[in-house]
Amino acid sequence: MVQLMSRMLLKTLRDAPADAETVSHRLLVRAGYVRRSSAGVWTWLPLGKRVLENVARVVREEMDAIGGQEVLLPALLPREPYEATGRAGEYGDLLFQLTDRKGSAYVLGPTHEEIFTQVVKDQATSYKDLPVILYQIQTKYRDEARPRSGVLRGREFQMKDAYSFDTDDAGLAESYRLHREAYVRIFTRLGFDYRVVSAVSGAMGGSASEEFLAPAAAGEDTFVQCTSCAYAANTEAVTTTVPAADPAAHGPLEELDTSDTPTIDTLAAHLGVPASATLKNLLVKVDGEITAVGVPGDREVDLGKLAEHLAPATVELVTAEDFTGRPDLVRGYIGPQRRSFPYLADPRIAPGTAWITGANKPGKHARDVVCGRDFTVDRYLDVVVVEPGDPCPSCGAGLEIGRAIEIGHIFQLGRKYADAFGLDVLGKDGKPVRVTMGSYGIGISRAVAALAEQTADERGLCWPREVAPADVHVVAAGKAGQTELALEIAAKLEAAGARVLVDDRAGVSPGVKFTDAELIGVPTIMVVGRRAAEGVVELKDRRTGERTELPADQAVVRLT
Ligand code: ATP
Ligand code: MG
Ligand code: MG
Ligand code: MG
Repeated sequence: MVQLMSRMLLKTLRDAPADAETVSHRLLVRAGYVRRSSAGVWTWLPLGKRVLENVARVVREEMDAIGGQEVLLPALLPREPYEATGRAGEYGDLLFQLTDRKGSAYVLGPTHEEIFTQVVKDQATSYKDLPVILYQIQTKYRDEARPRSGVLRGREFQMKDAYSFDTDDAGLAESYRLHREAYVRIFTRLGFDYRVVSAVSGAMGGSASEEFLAPAAAGEDTFVQCTSCAYAANTEAVTTTVPAADPAAHGPLEELDTSDTPTIDTLAAHLGVPASATLKNLLVKVDGEITAVGVPGDREVDLGKLAEHLAPATVELVTAEDFTGRPDLVRGYIGPQRRSFPYLADPRIAPGTAWITGANKPGKHARDVVCGRDFTVDRYLDVVVVEPGDPCPSCGAGLEIGRAIEIGHIFQLGRKYADAFGLDVLGKDGKPVRVTMGSYGIGISRAVAALAEQTADERGLCWPREVAPADVHVVAAGKAGQTELALEIAAKLEAAGARVLVDDRAGVSPGVKFTDAELIGVPTIMVVGRRAAEGVVELKDRRTGERTELPADQAVVRLT
């Protein structure tokens, strides 16, 4: 069906929402693709839904091609399995939780490892039932601390999550390889510029893990890549456990009042150091988690640089109450390997999100407080600064540093979930075999925004053809006969297999229609205007701006 703009629920906006910080947020709202419902929760309008479906279609095709079987699990899940694996605690406030009328505890699924494991435990009994790859495209819920950037980081969002089940390590490696290759095909087809980088396995547990990152200024991930070899890694990928600080070694405590909310400058003044000073054991609370900017070896935190990065953020002090009653925080900390990445660019220390403290009493702060004595943390962020041009750990050539959006993530989970739920199948010898798993995510809704980030220009969205809401946007300039011709051409284009959007709106000036067409970003714009009476139309390539005038019939042939 030709999509008629006169009938479509579509209103383009001249101005972006005041809080829109990113290109995709501004443009997807202005062009009428999405509409905010509440913080981090979005309505997909007709144009947006088409793009979302196009992304989902490509993902489905490639998942099916590696033998994935599509299923659909509930989003409303009992809390118990997430308790069993400890992930309820790990996810913490990220988890949306609710209670039913009988008092039973539920969560809205943030990701489904637990539930898929239970499904396979129910369904698979023998090694003959494996390997199996299951996937779904489904709504996920995470109560993100900072649901900004429009659909890039939603609290409700669409994810493709897949899970592989194998009887041995070689099988898992093969399932992982299949997914990796499928992801390469998916992101290539979608029109992404992307990198595959090694990643930390984080809350998922497990070992081998890679992320698919789409370089973009709006990204919240930082990665390094070698200018010469294939080395690329997420900043999170290089952490390892290092010994906790020696509780005995501590300096004098100097209390300060925290009734105000100091900026980094006032913090520096409180601490009695210049804003350019270096500090050790600087604590940050990021996304609600107490974290320390740690100091491996003799490297120190440069407060001046941190200030620069945080500006114009408000830096809040936290109090010792954050640490009291939290024995779980006494676990030592995870620190860096010798070489790591710039804490200044760590996405978790993004502007407006860091709280800095050195707390030892409620409401008080001190310098030279000591980890393990005055407080404990479960994790240190590394602060070794890597400057562009630093040597690549793999080949020694220069490193570059970039910002990117995480669009996909693949994990070899191993037996963590199978152990938690006792997922065994009968092996060839009749003895039970513990199953080994992988999990593989793609942010479907995030991919829409990430593509917008990478492809938009100053005039608006500019979709790669595979995901565009239409192939051709026919603009009827509006004079007598032009709309009729436009509809006639549109019908021919559709009959020949093209997806067509027609701007047949009456009483809208040609100028507004052209501007809207650029904003909406369909790859080819056809103008039925000035020379319509002669049967001549103009084709404009949205990306290059290249224009060609040609007879309508030839245009149809060229576009199909
Ligand atoms: P991020 O680091 O951006 O918070 P994540 O590592 O927590 O993402 P995963 O648990 O790996 O995310 O989920 C798989 C994929 O789901 C991610 O690679 C990303 O594309 C997408 N995704 C995760 N969180 C969100 C969100 N809040 N909004 C939209 N997409 C998301
Ligand atoms: Mg996350
Ligand atoms: Mg991540
Ligand atoms: Mg991830």
